[in-house]
Amino acid sequence: MSSRPIAQYLLPDTAELKNDDVFIGGVSLTALANQYGTPLFVYDELTLRRRAADAASVFDAGVAYASKAFLCGAMARLAVEEGLWIDVATEGELDLVLRSGVPAEKIVVHGNNKSRAEINRALDVGVHRIVVDNFDEIELLRELVSSTRPVSCLLRVIPGVEAHTHEFVQTGQEDSKFGLSITRGDAEEGLRRMRSIEGLHVAGLHSHIGSQIFEVSSFLKALEIVATFAREEHVEEICVGGGLGIAYVEGEQAPSLSEWGAAVRAEALRLFGPDVRITAEPGRSIVGSAAVTIYRVGARKEVADRTYLAVDGGMSDNPRPVLYGSGYEAFALRSPQAERLGVYRVVGKHCESGDVLIDEAALPLDVATGDLIVTPVTGAYGYSMASNYNRVTKPAVVFVRDGVATLVLRRETLDDLIRLEF
Ligand SMILES: *Cc1c(COP(=O)(O)O)cnc(C)c1O
Repeated sequence: MSSRPIAQYLLPDTAELKNDDVFIGGVSLTALANQYGTPLFVYDELTLRRRAADAASVFDAGVAYASKAFLCGAMARLAVEEGLWIDVATEGELDLVLRSGVPAEKIVVHGNNKSRAEINRALDVGVHRIVVDNFDEIELLRELVSSTRPVSCLLRVIPGVEAHTHEFVQTGQEDSKFGLSITRGDAEEGLRRMRSIEGLHVAGLHSHIGSQIFEVSSFLKALEIVATFAREEHVEEICVGGGLGIAYVEGEQAPSLSEWGAAVRAEALRLFGPDVRITAEPGRSIVGSAAVTIYRVGARKEVADRTYLAVDGGMSDNPRPVLYGSGYEAFALRSPQAERLGVYRVVGKHCESGDVLIDEAALPLDVATGDLIVTPVTGAYGYSMASNYNRVTKPAVVFVRDGVATLVLRRETLDDLIRLEF
């Protein structure tokens, strides 16, 4: 663990470290915390736009933003403005994206257990594609699709590749709830059945091997397996999914979207030639490093072997440490350039010993009650996985750009929490 000040490369592109504050998008984080309260998610709009534009430009048309990583109306519109389409996996995501003004022709529908209602809604509005997952879904499509309600589909296949990442976010291995296996012959049978449905156009194949993957070679391996299978089939499009990893803590290094795209494109060209469209659907790599979370420190407690810092959020706004054992860095907002010589366990306010945000955080020795601390790289799978555990209200989210902060999601109120009661 390094005691050096927080590394600039873990912060959004526009971050400026001052003596006693950090500015993102030209806006003071201290001022934002005071105005909007804490915990607070702050997204750098420039970083979001750059990553989105990078993703759109390195593949063929039809690259979709995997909205589950972070979704609100402002995010959906931003992604589309930068040339991306949008992936959804539930009716809730589909509904929000449609309400945000995204045209149905730019929406890709995923899901390993799509309901009749979800498929009907997708067909009614005329989405760009449905990514088909299993035989039951194919039979549901046979019932619901018709020549007057046609749809274009990809088949999600299991390439049988174990990407080097956390077991819970591996999806390319044979033992998976997602897709149909190439090895078992299920993918071939799936395509045969899909082709027999009137109004269903089979556009190609989809594979998504997992998330937070640092090695481009894992994607190339999957692509090669898909290519071998696709040789016998007529395909117009191959979607390589998402899953590109990002650096969360010092010392980690991930390929950029451009490096990932270039490597995948080159391999695809070799395997398929120029006539097959290559698309992707990144989530984390677009939004992850664009945001930070600001917390206020409440209790500081020394026990036998360590010092605890309790903040005003926790597993309800960032469940990743609990779910995956993910690591994060932190820095103190009033001294971001100071050496971080102390070691703290940063915990939340929930009634669980496991409610740990950072097991061993390097922070200055003098962090005290009332201080603001910031965890970088919280833009993906933080707010979108947020819960109301312990009836905690969800934080607010602001976008910052050119010195201006825009509240894109207000903080939940106690009234919001009782909305469902009779
Ligand atoms: C989650 C998911 C993605 C995005 O993954 P990231 O790791 O956030 O890039 C893309 N496609 C599918 C099918 C997914 O389930």
